[in-house]
Amino acid sequence: MPHSNSKKTVDMSQFHDYKRANELLKELYSQKDGLSAKQIFEGDNNGLTYNDLLILPGYIDFAANQVLLESRVTKNLVLKTPFMSSPMDTVTETDMAIRMALLGGVGIIHHNNTADEQAEMVRKVKKYKNGFIVDPVILGPDNTVRDVRKIKESLGFSGIPVTDTGKMHGKLLGIITSRDIEFHGSENSKLSEVMTKDLVTAPLGVTLEDANTILRTSKKGKLPIVDQDYRLEALLSRTDLQKNLYFPDASKDFKSKQLLCGAAIGTRPDDKARLKKLVEAGVDLVVLDSSQGNSMYQIEMLRWIKSTYPDIDVIAGNVVTREQAANLIQEGADGLRMGMGSGAACITQEVMACGRPQATAVWEVSQFAKLFGVPTIADGGIQNVGHIMKAMALGASSVMMGSLLAACTESPGTTIVYNNVRCKAYRGMGSIAAMSKTAIEGDNGSTARYFSESDSMKVAQGVSGLVAEKGSVDKFISYLSSGVKHSLQDIGVRSLDLLRSGVSDESVRFQLRSSSAMREGDVHGFVQFEKQLMG
Ligand code: GDP
Ligand code: GDP
Ligand code: GDP
Ligand code: 5GP
Repeated sequence: MPHSNSKKTVDMSQFHDYKRANELLKELYSQKDGLSAKQIFEGDNNGLTYNDLLILPGYIDFAANQVLLESRVTKNLVLKTPFMSSPMDTVTETDMAIRMALLGGVGIIHHNNTADEQAEMVRKVKKYKNGFIVDPVILGPDNTVRDVRKIKESLGFSGIPVTDTGKMHGKLLGIITSRDIEFHGSENSKLSEVMTKDLVTAPLGVTLEDANTILRTSKKGKLPIVDQDYRLEALLSRTDLQKNLYFPDASKDFKSKQLLCGAAIGTRPDDKARLKKLVEAGVDLVVLDSSQGNSMYQIEMLRWIKSTYPDIDVIAGNVVTREQAANLIQEGADGLRMGMGSGAACITQEVMACGRPQATAVWEVSQFAKLFGVPTIADGGIQNVGHIMKAMALGASSVMMGSLLAACTESPGTTIVYNNVRCKAYRGMGSIAAMSKTAIEGDNGSTARYFSESDSMKVAQGVSGLVAEKGSVDKFISYLSSGVKHSLQDIGVRSLDLLRSGVSDESVRFQLRSSSAMREGDVHGFVQFEKQLMG
């Protein structure tokens, strides 16, 4: 280790100005206490994991709730809470993606399904919250109460404008809301008999702020926007104001106020058709899901997406070396996903002999990508708040989590009880279980991530199993963000950006730890203890 503590000696005991004494020591040893990340990784021949290092504490002159977690996670996207949920079929579908975005992160919907199923999930996330609803569901005067109930069942809302044509841009005749049909006896009644006709509306061209004010003061649940001929042009929903109030950090499109949603695709020709459906559904962010991203398949796909959909951010990967990163940056990747074999359910390193310890991978790739303004995502192996902090300190702009978010209430799958513990399934996308879902459903599913779609023998790169239930992801993400804020406070930096610049200018310092130091840092000496992480 190139930690060159010189052998100079000096009697420091006469110093009573302790700060001055520390300055003098710095001069003598020509460096601050601890090691810079650069020193650690220059001497790193073995590869380090998150557990191999610690960040040294700094000076606290602010409260933890003043800490900012905002981070640029792709070239064009800044999140208030830089957490992503992994595109795995036991982690991210509609519910998880909605909660992740409401809480300031983003969910990446998996692709171990048909293109239509995946696009429908994206559509639901995009529809969950709106500014102006520009394509609201509309009915005509001859539709019936039954039709409204059907819409309520399938789409979840029943605030429906009625126009003369039953379509958008038709003349607005009235509105139906849940209260209009709640106690209505006859399913066959026409909406013309049930709807409310005397409406509060706002004129086309009204700003969102002004429309919101009308909505607030009118105390109605919906505000139709009409042109001068009273033709329906958009709709506003009161619940969206509440959602905006309760989730101030939500990741949303600046203009539409819809939640941001990501989706993963493979790199086969079929995935181009899949992407088209995702784009039609409103996807904001695409993750090219390969365990080894430095391939001609991915490069070709990246090139195609960048020329076909220049407005969509593409996260390429996975990569763990600078050489891999260089190829994908060259083709215009907006972000890089880093990690190979460090995930909880991965056996890639064991089976393929390929991969890299995650702390080293994050450092090497992030330092390189930073030179070109490409943000990086630390993916796999995040087991606790400390790992998130270390990933960020080593240069990642965000973290992607699989097992940590599996078995939340919003994760796909049902709860089972195993050895008296409530659990849900968690499986690697390269596990035989995930790869052979395809055979059942007639789709190619996750085999493509592992380049084994045409192989008669599937070689697993992941395992499947159970993880303990965690409860709602809302609480869990709040715990992770609070944990990160407190950690940044201990380090003495007020934001993730300052953490990363502190690591670059070597003011944020580290220490390597031995395996005995690791044991010291863990709970010890108890006959029995309970590890409750949040309260
Ligand atoms: P900021 O307040 O400038 O950070 O940005 P916001 O997007 O949170 O809010 C800007 C304006 O849009 C405010 O008037 C909000 O009330 C309104 N707004 C934000 N989200 C929504 C939404 O989902 N629906 C509606 N109707 N208005 C929203
Ligand atoms: P409702 O009163 O039964 O219509 O339902 P809510 O107002 O509680 O919920 C409506 C939610 O669905 C809002 O967040 C809307 O932005 C969203 N939404 C998305 N598309 C539509 C649509 O076509 N019509 C309505 N009414 N809401 C929509
Ligand atoms: P709800 O709470 O989801 O049923 O929706 P609202 O608060 O919008 O509607 C409550 C009642 O007011 C319903 O009977 C509506 O038909 C009626 N209403 C009267 N005028 C208006 C109006 O201008 N807009 C809306 N949305 N409802 C109106
Ligand atoms: P975790 O957060 O559970 O430690 O890791 C999640 C990450 O593991 C995913 O985002 C993905 O990159 C990776 N992963 C998911 N399934 C597999 C698999 O079957 N094999 C390998 N090697 N990696 C996987």
